[in-house]
Parts: sequence; structure tokens; C-alpha cells
Amino acid sequence: EVVLGNRPSKTSTIRRLDEVGSISRRVLGLLREDVRHGRLLLHYQPKHDCRDRLLGFEALVRWPQAPHPSVSPAMAVILAEEGRLINELGLWVFRQALAFKAHLNQSGFAGLSLAINVSPLQLAHGDFAERIARLMAETPVQPAEIEIEITESQVMPDDPVIDSNIQALGRMGFKLAMDDFGMGHTSLLHLRRFAIDVIKIDGSLTRDVLHSATNGDIIRAIAALGQARDIAIVAEFVETAAQKQALANLGCHVFQGYYYSPPLAEADCLAYCRRQPDEAEVGAA
Ligand code: C2E
Ligand code: MG
Ligand code: MG
Ligand code: MG
Repeated sequence: EVVLGNRPSKTSTIRRLDEVGSISRRVLGLLREDVRHGRLLLHYQPKHDCRDRLLGFEALVRWPQAPHPSVSPAMAVILAEEGRLINELGLWVFRQALAFKAHLNQSGFAGLSLAINVSPLQLAHGDFAERIARLMAETPVQPAEIEIEITESQVMPDDPVIDSNIQALGRMGFKLAMDDFGMGHTSLLHLRRFAIDVIKIDGSLTRDVLHSATNGDIIRAIAALGQARDIAIVAEFVETAAQKQALANLGCHVFQGYYYSPPLAEADCLAYCRRQPDEAEVGAA
């Protein structure tokens, strides 16, 4: 009956999921049905540069028919991982996100990038890169327009399959981002293991940057590392102008969070793009 394994990370999420009560097989069964019937949704959160120019979006999965409002997207993803559903869910996300990006391109916003989250468990699947290559063969979107965000806070098993999938995705031309950087126990080792283009600093570090000198020091160190290795630094959970300015001063290049916008439904994204102050500069950086 137990679907949720004993994870060293995201334990608070799992504990909350336990409190929901009627968890595990029933909820997983509902999720499986909804993935199969395409009843999930993607929302898209904007990313901006330090001059506030729109650079692109991150695709974030939503489960509108979740049986309980407290089953968050993060919990749905953990459930899918534990229930051997993550590959199917992940491919659905990828296909939807590519269709959205093709639509952006056709609408005059080809310069914007799109980030897609991929969990280490998907990368541990032998034919992951091959299946992505097959999806890319069916879309006008180029790999260089897509950033793959690999969650860093999860346990990243020491599995050669993961390494070869990541290398294959890099060779195809995808940009690779290490997500939730700073949350894992082995963040720095991952930098040595994978050729990474982007580091996304975890919200737990950026959130209280105005009040925590320690967090500021850590972010400055990560940014210095990024500069030395030609890695772009993204700050997530940017909620105020003052926070954005502090993070820019510490060396972050890209900013994402409620200060700009919450994740948007697909229908609202084009309006957001058109609303940008200088359309000629959209995606220029
Ligand atoms: P993440 O990739 O680190 O995404 C950032 C999360 O922070 C999102 O939560 C986003 O809505 C939230 N967020 C963004 N800006 C702010 C802010 O200013 N303040 C606060 N408090 N929160 C902000 P969300 O959408 O609930 O997603 C949670 C996590 O679920 C994601 O974290 C990601 O790890 C995972 N996830 C979401 N979609 C997918 C997916 O398609 N595939 C996989 N494998 N994982 C996904
Ligand atoms: Mg992400
Ligand atoms: Mg993140
Ligand atoms: Mg995060």
C-alpha cells in the first residue's frame, strides 16, 4: 500500500502528503488516469534579466482535478516518481511544452527560451534521451531553444545511465540547468559531474537575501563560481524590487518570481509578452 518511499529530501512535502490521509494508491490511480487522458495542464512563469527584459518562461505542471487542494504540483510529481508514472508524465509535459514553444515562435516571440523540469528519475531511464530525440524530430523547435532544469534537491543516484542521458541531451544542443541549487548535499560535486549551462539558486537562499548576510555570502560565492565556469545564474522566488536588486548586486543574471508574475495559464502568456515595454528587445539578451 505504501507508495511514498523514505526520501532524505523533500521530507516535509511527504509528511504533508501523509496528513492528507487518503493518499497513495487511490490518489496515484487518479493521477495515472488524468495523465493518460491529458487532463494535466502547464502553467508558464516568466524569467527576466536585470534590466527587466523578458527572456523566456518555465513550464510548471498543474493537476486541476487533484482530489484534494493540498496535493500541490510538487507532491503530484513526487507521487508520480514513487508510482512509476514520472516517465509518462514527463513525456506529456515535454510534448505540451514543445507545442507551446512552437506557438510562441509563430507568434513573433521566437527569441524567448522555454525551460522544462526533468527529474533525476526520468534521466535514470535508459531510453530517455532517445525518446526526447524522437519528440524533437516531430517539432520545428530546436533543442537550443529549450532549457532542461534538473532538480538538484532530489537524490541524484550515482548511475551511469543518468550521466549518459545528460551527455546525450547536451550533445543534442539542449541547455542544461541545475535546479534548486544549494538544497542538495552534493551541489558542488554535480558541477564537476555534469556540463551545466545554468544554475538556478534555490528559493530558500534567495527568499530572505535582504535579511540574511549568510545567504548573501553563499549566493555571491555561487555567482563567482558561475562566472569562472561561464554558467548563468538564475534567482528564483524573487518577490520584490529590493530583493531583485540585492540579487543582481550579488551577481545573479536572471530573475524569476512573483515580483514579475506568478506562473500563467497558456492563454495569458502571449498577452504578457505583448505587454512588455519594448517589444523589440524581448528576448534580446
Ligand atoms: P521548481 O522547478 O523549483 O519551480 C519553482 C516553484 O516555485 C514553482 O512551484 C513556482 O510556482 C514557485 N514560485 C515561483 N516564484 C515564486 C515566488 O516568488 N514565491 C514563491 N513562494 N514561490 C514561487 P510549483 O509550480 O508548485 O512547482 C513545484 C516544483 O514541482 C517545481 O519546483 C519542480 O521541482 C516540480 N515540478 C513542477 N512541474 C514539473 C514538471 O513538469 N516535471 C517535473 N519533473 N517536476 C516539476
Ligand atoms: Mg524548475
Ligand atoms: Mg527551482
Ligand atoms: Mg525550487
